[in-house]
Amino acid sequence: MADRFFPNTMPQFVPETGTSLQHQEQEALTIGADSLPSLLSMPYAQLAELLKRAALDLKETIAVETWGLSGQRARDFTLYCGLLGTAFLLLKSHHVTGNANDLALCSHIVKACDSASLTSRDVTFLCGRAGVCAIGAVAAKLRGDDESLRYYLAHFQKIKLPKNLPDELLYGRVGFLWACLFLNKHLGQGTIPSAYTRVVVDEIINNGRAMGRKMGRCPLMFEWYGEKYWGAAHGLAGIMHVLMDMELKPDEVEDVKGTLKYMIHNRFPSGNYPASEDDRKRDVLVHWCHGAPGVALTLVKAAKHFGDKEFLDAAIEAAEVVWNRGLLKRVGICHGISGNAYVFLSLYQLTKDAKYLYRAKAFACFLLERAHKLISQGEMHGGDTPYSLFEGQGGMSYLFFDMIDPSQSKFPAYEL
Ligand SMILES: [Zn+2]
Repeated sequence: MADRFFPNTMPQFVPETGTSLQHQEQEALTIGADSLPSLLSMPYAQLAELLKRAALDLKETIAVETWGLSGQRARDFTLYCGLLGTAFLLLKSHHVTGNANDLALCSHIVKACDSASLTSRDVTFLCGRAGVCAIGAVAAKLRGDDESLRYYLAHFQKIKLPKNLPDELLYGRVGFLWACLFLNKHLGQGTIPSAYTRVVVDEIINNGRAMGRKMGRCPLMFEWYGEKYWGAAHGLAGIMHVLMDMELKPDEVEDVKGTLKYMIHNRFPSGNYPASEDDRKRDVLVHWCHGAPGVALTLVKAAKHFGDKEFLDAAIEAAEVVWNRGLLKRVGICHGISGNAYVFLSLYQLTKDAKYLYRAKAFACFLLERAHKLISQGEMHGGDTPYSLFEGQGGMSYLFFDMIDPSQSKFPAYEL
């Protein structure tokens, strides 16, 4: 089990000191020296500068590797592992720095993703056509390009949800709904009318209740390829996360709460969460996609929405699992250290407890100081798509951008 993650030997808390930037920076950048302790004690504003520089350097490398050297073609157009992930990272970089070149390149890349996805049957934000059209529309709006904005919105509205669509986040109905929420947030409420999304919510609730009744234990349950998953990518945590952002009827709210409580009451004794309903013995995965991190983000949101202490307590316990077993031997967002760091950022935003900011900082500093070295030494997996947003260094760059203003951070393509 231990070969999945590095034992977390970092201190439980390190107060920040006021030593000069020059000295600390030199120390931090000395190759071969263990600069992690000095990074952890560095005044936040100075560390944020280091993280920003690293984020920008990585972003440049990722743009060159995924776009510049790829013949400017979208072999994989998706946000999850493909070129749209680079476009989303550029949008983030533009948000942080205001650099118009990032926005221009983002739009250019989305255009290539648009061509590559015209015949795709996938409909979600993370893996389908909705992500392309939604990001295209938001980038067009930021650029003041009304023609492209109209084009992408018209194409978004042409997306048809097949009858046999699953309900989960990566390929299913809530993955499409998330794109609607993203558009409404950035282009104004009502851009995608609630009458339209309500039809999709009805289908999700009906499917969840039908399977929940069959099982007789949990109000809502879903299947993806025959498995009743619990995690954020394919299961309950992701579906409940998106449903909480929709306008729900009181009985639907009760079913969402009941489903989350069922998960809390049936988690592993360690505090971790099973990957699926039938996977009750393998307490190994501590990922956003499967396990405590993805569930923790949903519980933080539930605590915020419902003000129920049981959700907050469970989120805090899940975050302990992430601290102890979440320093994964991968860098990415989906099943890597970058994604796991967002659990602490999310809890920090809810509780304002400096302990969680420290923990997010510790995971980010571990990546900043060690990721490249560990990957080159073969001790850390570089990712099957090493520059992608969800499985590669794109996620690390995104996290570093988010660490600059941790009160505003958002798990990419998941937290609104
Ligand atoms: Zn994953």
